[in-house]
Formats: sequence, structure tokens, C-alpha cells
Amino acid sequence: MVKVNDNYLKLPGSYLFSTIGKKVAAFSAANPDKKIIRLGIGDVTQPLAPAIITALHGAVDEMADAATFHGYAPDLGYEFLRSAIAQNDYQDRGCDIAADEIFVSDGAKCDSSNIQEIFSLDNKIAVCDPVYPVYVDSNVMAGRTGTWDPKTETWSDVIYMPCTAENNFAPELPKETPDLIYLCFPNNPTGSTITKDQLQVWVDYANKMGAIIIYDAAYEAYISEENVPHSIYECEGARTCAIELRSFSKNAGFTGVRLGFTVIPKELKAGETNLHPLWARRHGTKYNGAPYIVQRAGEAVYSPEGKAQLKEQVAYYMNNAKVIYEGLKSAGYTVSGGVNAPYIWLKTPYQMTSWEFFDYLLEKANVVGTPGSGFGPSGEGYFRLTAFGSYDNTVEAIERMKAL
Ligand code: PLP
Repeated sequence: MVKVNDNYLKLPGSYLFSTIGKKVAAFSAANPDKKIIRLGIGDVTQPLAPAIITALHGAVDEMADAATFHGYAPDLGYEFLRSAIAQNDYQDRGCDIAADEIFVSDGAKCDSSNIQEIFSLDNKIAVCDPVYPVYVDSNVMAGRTGTWDPKTETWSDVIYMPCTAENNFAPELPKETPDLIYLCFPNNPTGSTITKDQLQVWVDYANKMGAIIIYDAAYEAYISEENVPHSIYECEGARTCAIELRSFSKNAGFTGVRLGFTVIPKELKAGETNLHPLWARRHGTKYNGAPYIVQRAGEAVYSPEGKAQLKEQVAYYMNNAKVIYEGLKSAGYTVSGGVNAPYIWLKTPYQMTSWEFFDYLLEKANVVGTPGSGFGPSGEGYFRLTAFGSYDNTVEAIERMKAL
């Protein structure tokens, strides 16, 4: 008889955002006159920049003519996009990354969940707590995380690295040695960052221990401070211990367009095995390439016009972040993040749990945020707001929260 992959059955409850969606839908059905403002899910709201729209139109027209039509894309991405990425995101920043070390994909969610496939099930993962849930859940599905303890809300075979106010939301080196270390900076959900020197400590540690860092830099475009690294490859020795994930979702509004990439340096090894050909093989077997028109749109992100327009778009969201951060601070909330990331992480008032505050805010202010506990046990007592709303909605949401 056919059997399912019972690792899927181990996943507790439903995915964070579907729970939020159900609660909001129920509230909305019961209160149809209330205007709900959503500062919960990390989805962008601004339209695609003109340079990207122009590139999309151009590529669509190419598809209408047999002479310029494009079918399957190369598995690993078109050369024009891989070169633009290598030049602009890496070489121009002094990072030694070549075009053929870049694997174009349809986004960082897939890459961050699929990358674990090329590693043995024996490997132990370490994650920040709180954490972007995909890193853990994808390892649960693979059968790498042991058993779930509903009391502590942790997996027996996962190393959790608490990120709390005490350590400024930056993980400390774990006592137990991990094989795979997931790091995400600027961080979702806390909005925190680490300095280049702090990241160098992780790189040195991984090289010493023979561990691999999976570095998610999806929010790189939001970095505003000088000493915050844009890529892990700014650190010495990262080529032998790090994989980097990037996305076009947040820097260019591609959440609905879909584009991202993974960087695997040629000399990166797990034991004696080179990882570059393994990921190339995985990509080639399981993926047929991001669409041509989308890769052309991605190329436009690096054009002079594209860069200027996207700088403005990021500044628009970061102005919202400032409104949230300063508004809540002036109202007496304890807040962090929001300076190098579009996320503001706030301590729930009156000792409320994260979900209690979620319900309170939805009911009293009709504002939707994300309960910190949904990202891991150390997120309990915290709440995440995002800067991705419209300016007017953001201002209104904060006014409502201040009036509570
Ligand atoms: N990585 C992190 C840390 C994220 O927060 C997100 C989306 O919210 C993603 C990856 C997913 O990015 P993409 O839209 O490229 O799949």
C-alpha cells in the first residue's frame, strides 16, 4: 500500500500566515464595516518600477516573434543576468564571485527550502530563534529534525540560537556543534543586523568546524548603515564555508514576478565533495529555469534607471519603517529593527503573549501584525510589523495604535 512521507505529518499546526489569514477573515466577516490595515505579511505593495515594466514589455514582444522567441531557459540562468548579478552585487563590492557561481531561480523561499536536499539527513542544523519558518519546516519535511516537543515548541535535533534583547537579537556561537547554520541578515523577523566583524566570527567558526553557513540576504537592499555587510562574501574565508541566498522580491517588488538566486562558490565543499556540481545537478534535474521575460526584468534591476528607481522604492518603505519605529517609541513601546530592515520588532505591552496582542490589535485598532511566537519560542512576547504598506495606511495604523 502506498504510504506518505510521514515527516509531513510531524509538522505542528498550520503555517503561521494561514492561521493569521483565518483569524483576519473571521474578524472581517463579523465586522464588515471596519477598515483593516495589514502590516503583517512581508509582501510589497508598490508597483514595479518603470525600468522593469519597460524590460518586461520588451521581452514579451520578443516572445511574439519566431526570430526572438525564447523557450526553455538555461537551467542555471541566462548569462546576461548572471553576469549583471556577479558584477553589481559582488564584484563592485569587492567580493570574489563569478557569474558561473550564480544559480538563478524563482525565489529565495524555494532555494532556502530546497538547499538542504543536497546534504545528508545526518546533518544537524542550527537556526536563530526566532526564525523565518521555512528553514525549519523544510528540514522537518526531509526528516532531519527529530521529534517535536509541544511544550517547548522545539525539535529535538535542531540547535536553536536564541536572539533576544539581551544579545541585541544577534545569535551567539552554539555550544553544540552544528553542520548547517542558517543565518539571515538583515533579519526576518527581528529586523536586526550584525556587523562585518560579527559575521567574520561566524565564517571563522564554520571554517574551523567544517560547517556550512546558509546565508539568507533577502533584505540586503534595506541596509543603511556602513558597517553592515551586504554579502557574506565580504568576509575573508567565506568562499569555503558559505552559500548565499538572494531574492528580487524585496529590493525590486518581485514577490508576484518571482526571481532569486543562490551563490555557491566553486571551492565550497562538504567533506571532500564539491557542492557546486551537486546543486547544478539538482537544479538541472528538478528545475527548468526562471522565465526569460522575468530574467530580462531582473537584468533591468541593475540598469542605471532601475537602480535609481528602486533606491526610491526602498526609501519609500524605509520611511514607513521610520514612522512605525518612531511612532511606537514615542507611545512607550520597546522597539527594535527598522533601520537596516523593513521589519519592526516590538515587545508586547502589559505582559501579553504574542497571540493575545495580535487579537487585541485586530479587535481594538483593526491592525494586523505577526505574532513573534510564530517564529519560534524566543519570539514569544514580541510582535512584528512590516514597512511594506502604503504610507497613508502606515501612518493611520500607528495613529490607531498610539490612541489605544
Ligand atoms: N527569505 C526570507 C528571510 C524571507 O523573509 C522571505 C520572504 O518573506 C524569503 C526568503 C522569500 O523570498 P522569495 O519571495 O524570493 O521567495
